[in-house]
Amino acid sequence: MQVRNFINGKWVGASIEKKFVSLNPADTRQIVAEAPLSLREDVDRAVKSAREAFPTWHSLPAPRRGEILFRAGELLLREKRKLGELVTREMGKVLGEGLGDVQEAIDMAFYMAGEGRRMQGETVPSELPDKDCKSLREPHGVVALITPWNFPTAIPAWKICAALICGNTVVFKPSSDTPASAAALVQILEEAGVPAGVLNMVCGSGAEVGEYLATHEGIDAVSFTGSCAAGERLEGLLGRMHRPLATEMGGKNAIIVMDDAELSLALEGVLWGAFGTSGQRCTAASRVVVHEKVYEAFTDMLTRAAAGLRVGDGLLETTDMGPIINEQQFNKVLEYIRIGCDEGALLVAGGRPVTAGDCTHGFFIEPTIFANVTPTMRIAQEEIFGPVLSAIRCSSLDEAIRIVNSVPFGLSSAIYSRNVNSTAKAEHDLKSGIVYVNASTIGAEIQLPFGGWMHSGSGHPEAGGRGGALDFYSRIKVVYRDYSGRLQKAQIDR
Ligand code: NAD
Repeated sequence: MQVRNFINGKWVGASIEKKFVSLNPADTRQIVAEAPLSLREDVDRAVKSAREAFPTWHSLPAPRRGEILFRAGELLLREKRKLGELVTREMGKVLGEGLGDVQEAIDMAFYMAGEGRRMQGETVPSELPDKDCKSLREPHGVVALITPWNFPTAIPAWKICAALICGNTVVFKPSSDTPASAAALVQILEEAGVPAGVLNMVCGSGAEVGEYLATHEGIDAVSFTGSCAAGERLEGLLGRMHRPLATEMGGKNAIIVMDDAELSLALEGVLWGAFGTSGQRCTAASRVVVHEKVYEAFTDMLTRAAAGLRVGDGLLETTDMGPIINEQQFNKVLEYIRIGCDEGALLVAGGRPVTAGDCTHGFFIEPTIFANVTPTMRIAQEEIFGPVLSAIRCSSLDEAIRIVNSVPFGLSSAIYSRNVNSTAKAEHDLKSGIVYVNASTIGAEIQLPFGGWMHSGSGHPEAGGRGGALDFYSRIKVVYRDYSGRLQKAQIDR
């Protein structure tokens, strides 16, 4: 597939002929897409187009903007199978998850379409007679959206739908690992009737195109999802510019398994959390903190179950876990496995690349489990972003919560227990933006805010609900309307 930039309603090449390729991580002999390695001039053109389109888009009533998103939802639904297969070929996750990625985009398009008829502000009484007080939402203007590769349809759709419904125009920079999935989403929005210039896409490197875009003088706000390294760099740069920035970054999520947990349920949850998407979710469970009374039994169960997971091409029905996204990430995961061994953790499952049979040409790693991990080891503290799980022993709920909270991240956490007091305490004391009770760390739904604490993000959640994305993609304007025909002084005329 040949991907082009999308600027002012047209699919165009970059200023130079240079391209990059996205490969199928399950078989790197297959090129999924070639995309333009854009230059700063291309970003300038995209920002200019978004600026010019802003006044008209802003003045289109929000319910009408919603109708366009609704059509996009219908088109995404129509194309779900094709798009899901593309996600799997380009990113590697198993087909069920590829389709789930698209489903999130569908859900978000319909949800944000409905927001077009709400978009609430507040109307409150005035302390003075013949005076109205209200707040309303205004768009920022042109927003830059920068996205990672692990949810190549869902995360761009989260951001684009929320930004558009609020009346912003967009310049979108997708991950270089997944330009084809990004282009397919933009094509759908184009077909749904998003006017020329309202949504623009520029492909290229993060350090060059992404950073230039985020700091561009024509950009009013930036939403970034990706690594802490890049996100924190942007926080530094944009903080100095007083430019609104939402960051969603890394995680080191944990599941607590108490001695009174239903172990078979916990087992399924831990496997799903640790090895779903090959551990490449920001909410992936990379630590399991197990009560000492069930530690041996539970790690045994985990080890046997992990060894039974079938690794391979995500398009095959027989596959439980797909590949790692690219060579750099593949090497990073193997390096962390070496670090775990050097730190004295006990490797009880996996730990090696998978190269046999159909896996010869892909970036496959066995589902890997370390036992006897202590909370301060690097494998228990740092984000690995691969199929590597650390099992840590605890002797009480208090200790378990302390261990879970001992990392600089705070995205998602979970507890398995049949004791209602334990789960209530965990809900209260776990320091993360999302807490699951008797469910895994993954599986957020789009009608509630999604976001991390501390190093996991800036605290401007994505998705829906009160405190969700609309609060970032709009800014509040307060209006006082005095129809008394005389000077009234708040606080003084009392
Ligand atoms: P990444 O930071 O390498 O890239 C993310 C995006 O940022 C890409 O489009 C990239 O080109 C761009 N980029 C890179 N450097 C940049 C810079 N200096 N300025 C502007 N843009 C830049 O991350 P990745 O490898 O694509 O994704 C994996 C990371 O994303 C993991 O850390 C994961 O936890 C995180 N993630 C977080 C969430 C969340 O909601 N918290 C969701 C998904 C992924």
